[in-house]
Amino acid sequence: MKDEFSFISKITPRHTHQSSLKVAIGDDAAVYSGTDLFDEVICVDTMVEGIHFRKDTLTPYQIGKKALAVNLSDLAAMGAVPHYYLVSIAIPKSWSEEQLEAVYHGMKDLADQFKVDLIGGDTVSIQESLVITVTVIGRVEKNRSLLRSSAEVGDNVFVTGYVGGSAAGLSLLLEKGNEASYFDHEQELIKAHQEPVPQVRAGRIFAQSNERISLNDVSDGLASEANEIAEASQVTLLLYEEKLPLHPAMSANELDQQLDAALYGGEDFQLIGTASKETFPLIQAECKRQGISLHLIGEVIDNQPAVYLKKENEKILLSKKGYNHFSK
Ligand code: ADP
Ligand code: MG
Repeated sequence: MKDEFSFISKITPRHTHQSSLKVAIGDDAAVYSGTDLFDEVICVDTMVEGIHFRKDTLTPYQIGKKALAVNLSDLAAMGAVPHYYLVSIAIPKSWSEEQLEAVYHGMKDLADQFKVDLIGGDTVSIQESLVITVTVIGRVEKNRSLLRSSAEVGDNVFVTGYVGGSAAGLSLLLEKGNEASYFDHEQELIKAHQEPVPQVRAGRIFAQSNERISLNDVSDGLASEANEIAEASQVTLLLYEEKLPLHPAMSANELDQQLDAALYGGEDFQLIGTASKETFPLIQAECKRQGISLHLIGEVIDNQPAVYLKKENEKILLSKKGYNHFSK
């Protein structure tokens, strides 16, 4: 297989049966009607040892925490509140019961923070590598789920928090290992990689604003995520290089390296989105009130699906060069 994106489009059903379905394959999570007041939101993500993590880059505790975090991030990208999670785990002989308990401990600590409950799962054995699949279920106010397809020409493009830190942290871990001694700013980058914080609260601010907002989470690089919005909304995003909130702990690195981490590194689990020029200051002010930084990084300029980066006088086409599982 060459490309997971074309595979997914091949297996996407042309017709669905359930009239309660609101958002099917193609966004961060699926949405279907729940009660009169709320829609249900559900997503699933898998982490595989050797592909998404290694025992020498994440502790078992951090592996568990991250497996839940990536799913909470997908719900955050819909504006939803998470409620429940289920965990399917395929265990090889190389993992002890104690290590597996630590995985669950990591999930539980994050789950407690967001008040989500573990309600089921599955336990099986496997030959080689640990595989953890987490499903998260939550809800959002009726018809308020935030889609990648809501961007319009004239919108501002924004991103929460800082980007690039996770990739910079991973580079350090791969270069020196997790036993090495690190400066404070390096530890900050490593922490960004090992224990990303899903932006659930920011997602809630956007959903509760009652404004039109498009949203996606930064699981791959900014370039890839911006392209997903561009494709889903059929618009052109122009990002300004000097406005990208590069993680300050990377500032000792070359600018090109910092940009590479932000645009193509991924796993920052921030939220990227668009809102009208009138809406943006409102959500930015509410984010600020709640201690969340929301950065203006660009604008939506046209009705063709594309993403450009403006760099002084150059305009560079940014391709979807984020992490594609089958491109290597
Ligand atoms: P994300 O980066 O948000 O995790 P993905 O790129 O993994 O999203 O998936 C894109 C869309 O395709 C999502 O709606 C997801 O639910 C769906 N999808 C991915 N893999 C499969 C699969 N094997 N079968 C059915 N749907 C899938
Ligand atoms: Mg996602």
